[in-house]
Amino acid sequence: MKITRYLYFFMIIIACFFVFQSQILSGDSGDSPSKSEDTQINENQKTPVDDTEAAPNHDLTETEEETQQQSETLTPIPSRGKYVSWDESLIKTLSFLQSPLPGAQVTTRDSQLPGAPRTYRNGTHEGLDFYSGYCGIPINFGDPVFSAGPGVIYRIDHDYIEALMEERNELLKISHKLDDTPEEILDMLRGRQVWIIHPFGVITRYAHLDNVAEDLQEGDLVEAGDFIGTIGNSGTSDGANGSTLNPHLHWEIWIGESYLGEGLPPSESRALLQIILNQ
Ligand SMILES: [Zn+2]
Repeated sequence: MKITRYLYFFMIIIACFFVFQSQILSGDSGDSPSKSEDTQINENQKTPVDDTEAAPNHDLTETEEETQQQSETLTPIPSRGKYVSWDESLIKTLSFLQSPLPGAQVTTRDSQLPGAPRTYRNGTHEGLDFYSGYCGIPINFGDPVFSAGPGVIYRIDHDYIEALMEERNELLKISHKLDDTPEEILDMLRGRQVWIIHPFGVITRYAHLDNVAEDLQEGDLVEAGDFIGTIGNSGTSDGANGSTLNPHLHWEIWIGESYLGEGLPPSESRALLQIILNQ
């Protein structure tokens, strides 16, 4: 009898030990997710997001709220290299977009298309350029630029200051040393910008602007065709020189983490853009 009692007592001790150990283990595993969450947050912060450009939370209408909710699932400045499938369903999704310059055609020059190499900064062109002589309409310094679709202003550079030529050259030297153009440098090279978040999480960026619409602020709702700014050459070497030479609109379309045409040869990018813009 005594031996059985001892055995019973011994088994309870063993059971307690296992319960205690499993609690410690579950405590450890409980920590791990929060650690990995921290890592995720840090990784997100590593993507070059300019916090000063984040859209403020104004009192929004339902439509604005809907668009903002869609935008919250996005990385504000997407990381590159994740190609999406440029298929029919994507074309349908993007068909709400229109040219930001009425009457302008997709460029006839490959070097002005997304995916074109940019050797001066060791990188790739991520947008479509509209220059006089290549897009079917004259492009003048100060010409108006319009929203390509309905959406919410995510960024609008009212307080843009042009980088000095020396500053610009120093940054380009850094680009030459690296295998790619760092986002901060790329951002400087895009000059004065407006970014708009559209339905389906599509983002359009308008770069090298001379001016932006005075009455627009981050968080404002815009319709397709609303005036957002004027064509210039900010961010380019001509802009840094203080001249008005070579004005053009650089226009980017982002879907998730890819710019439109990423991974495609220029001819396919052109065809894709022409279908989307009904040309
Ligand atoms: Zn460009």
